[in-house]
Amino acid sequence: MPTTRSVRQPATRGRSIPVLDPATGEAFDEAPDQHPDELDTVVDRAHTAWHRWRADPSARRHALLAAAGAVEAAAPDLAPLLTREQGKPLRESYAEVGRTAARLRYFAELRPGREAISDGRPVRSELRWRPLGPVAAITPWNFPLQLASAKFAPALAAGNTMVLKPSPFTPLATRLLGSIVSTALPEHVLTIVTGGEALGARLASHPGIRHVTFTGSIPTGRAVAGGAAATLARVTLELGGNDAAVLLDDVEVDRIADRLFWAAFRNCGQVCMAVKRVYAPVRLYSEVVEALAQRAKSAVVGAGLDPGSELGPVNNAPQLARVEKYTAQAVADGARAVTGGHRIDRPGYFFAPTVLADVPTRSAVVTEEQFGPVLPVLPYRNIDEAVEAANDTGFGLGGSVWGTDLDRAEAVAGRLECGTAWINHHAELSLAQPFAGIKESGVGVAGGPWGLYGNLRPFVMHRPEDM
Ligand code: NAD
Repeated sequence: MPTTRSVRQPATRGRSIPVLDPATGEAFDEAPDQHPDELDTVVDRAHTAWHRWRADPSARRHALLAAAGAVEAAAPDLAPLLTREQGKPLRESYAEVGRTAARLRYFAELRPGREAISDGRPVRSELRWRPLGPVAAITPWNFPLQLASAKFAPALAAGNTMVLKPSPFTPLATRLLGSIVSTALPEHVLTIVTGGEALGARLASHPGIRHVTFTGSIPTGRAVAGGAAATLARVTLELGGNDAAVLLDDVEVDRIADRLFWAAFRNCGQVCMAVKRVYAPVRLYSEVVEALAQRAKSAVVGAGLDPGSELGPVNNAPQLARVEKYTAQAVADGARAVTGGHRIDRPGYFFAPTVLADVPTRSAVVTEEQFGPVLPVLPYRNIDEAVEAANDTGFGLGGSVWGTDLDRAEAVAGRLECGTAWINHHAELSLAQPFAGIKESGVGVAGGPWGLYGNLRPFVMHRPEDM
């Protein structure tokens, strides 16, 4: 396997990243801050392990099913650690562990098919699928376990090995997950490395890597794609979103308000495909704003480990600063914080659930991704105006339409320029469906069989029949 080393600063080994509890703002543990040079050995080993791992699909299936069982059994260790470093309510962490195991099971059972290809000539052509080699994965801090498994489950099922780097804000649960999954796998099939931007940048551009799969922000996605261009490795990017929810004039506000609220505020709004803007018809505007504000006021905010908490803190200080900045800018632009609009006066990174009304359409909280517990609600006069506003963005992850007449709602949803559109709910995904953002929200397809094939390359066997 090729590896290159350019002249670099001497390695500083043995450093660590402090890991903070967002409910207190205090460090409670640490993870290794690995030097980028360490990747040469790690990728080398992943390459060696690949030769055996790729050879036996049935052994892979058994290993991944065993890994799923091991993850479930370790939920009492994984879930509290996830809550501690990420902030989310404990029951959501348990749900995330469950989805992590489910994904392993789903991909364990997927197998690429063989397909005869014919153009009528006397030639027997067969399409087969082959793994790519060591895959690099880089993940963010909002769903550390679920997104890690969204990377390694399809990649390993396809016969690749993987080196995965979690966010430095949430490295611990992913490290633990890696060691649990690895109990069921041969050595070096899955390796978790921890560190920051420099480690991620080297991983994305490492010459031993054949596919780079990244989930995170758009600016980092660009940097990752630029790095991978050096080796021409395949790139899959799952990036930010600014999903709109369009409410139709026949919507029953009280009936949908809970679901709409949680579609925006779940995980403290730190969901790539959360509802990040609501468009309501002028006639219902006050009612929608009031219904969402009521839910925001009554949501129980607290540390994720407190059993009553429904909303935890924002994950980290830079993200809290961004949420605060966008909110303050919107208010300075003329928006009204119907509820919230400020930090909560307690230790940690808590921000009051915020509903913003009368927000100027060019305010950053509307045009950018706030990624926090803040929701702008905007009025519209006719449906064309609402669809145009929903589509007037460089993002294209998801969108939703809410109303009573489902056929009409579906017709409007069909006009949204995004990868997934929902009717009367938002951000519900099945393991079996493709997940692909358009425009700046992503490159490539994850999820379902498409996720498996995203980790494979076509190989054609071409044999003439007349010789
Ligand atoms: P981020 O882009 O700041 O960081 C993501 C990861 O990239 C981290 O592991 C980070 O250490 C690493 N990184 C940073 N600089 C790098 C570089 N130059 N080269 C390689 N790696 C580098 O994102 P974040 O703040 O952790 O996560 C929030 C973002 O993720 C939001 O925009 C959100 O919408 C997006 N997201 C998208 C999806 C999706 O499926 N589309 C899912 C979850 C989150």
